[in-house]
Amino acid sequence: MPADPSPGFAGETSTRSAGTQQRGAADRPPRAPATSAVEVRRSNRRSRTVSAYREGDRTIVLIPARMSEAEERRWVGVMLDKLAAQESKRVFGDGELAERAERLSAQYFEGRARPASVRWVTNQNTRWGSCTPAEGSIRLSHRLQGMPEYVVDYVLVHELAHLLVPGHGPRFWRLLEAYPRTERARGYLEGVVAADRLPHLPAARGE
Ligand SMILES: [Zn+2]
Repeated sequence: MPADPSPGFAGETSTRSAGTQQRGAADRPPRAPATSAVEVRRSNRRSRTVSAYREGDRTIVLIPARMSEAEERRWVGVMLDKLAAQESKRVFGDGELAERAERLSAQYFEGRARPASVRWVTNQNTRWGSCTPAEGSIRLSHRLQGMPEYVVDYVLVHELAHLLVPGHGPRFWRLLEAYPRTERARGYLEGVVAADRLPHLPAARGE
């Protein structure tokens, strides 16, 4: 069943309780998905190094305790760019895809969706994902590779939900509301489809 946006969706947007501190990143355009929060942790043990990683929906940036507010702002921006660049290059394999599916099922469906197989396929150009409930198999189009992780996760959540509810009725979309970035991910995918249909603009000349 396709994960393509279908008409008639009246789901809720992703309202999340972002209880984490937004220090530093608040005055910059969001580079990570807007629903994710950035948490800056100062450490006395760090003297110079800055590092960052994702923890669920949040991005944790570790900085030295003595760093100034201005430096903190600058480094948060640098680290968000770096993470985004790494993620856009990263392609995960079938094994990691299956692990993600398991984690997402646990997180959003109490582990009730249990796919027998989850894999990438290259023969799916009009659908982002598909699933065969009788076999418990889920397939994701390779065209999703390189898209933001929340988009890949959305398609996984979508196909996992089909293991519980076939079709795209109200019950299906209620299940999908559990995933906080459903609407955002659908918008992203709609944008990709729309971009393909736009007339091609002349390429910008490089400087
Ligand atoms: Zn579907």
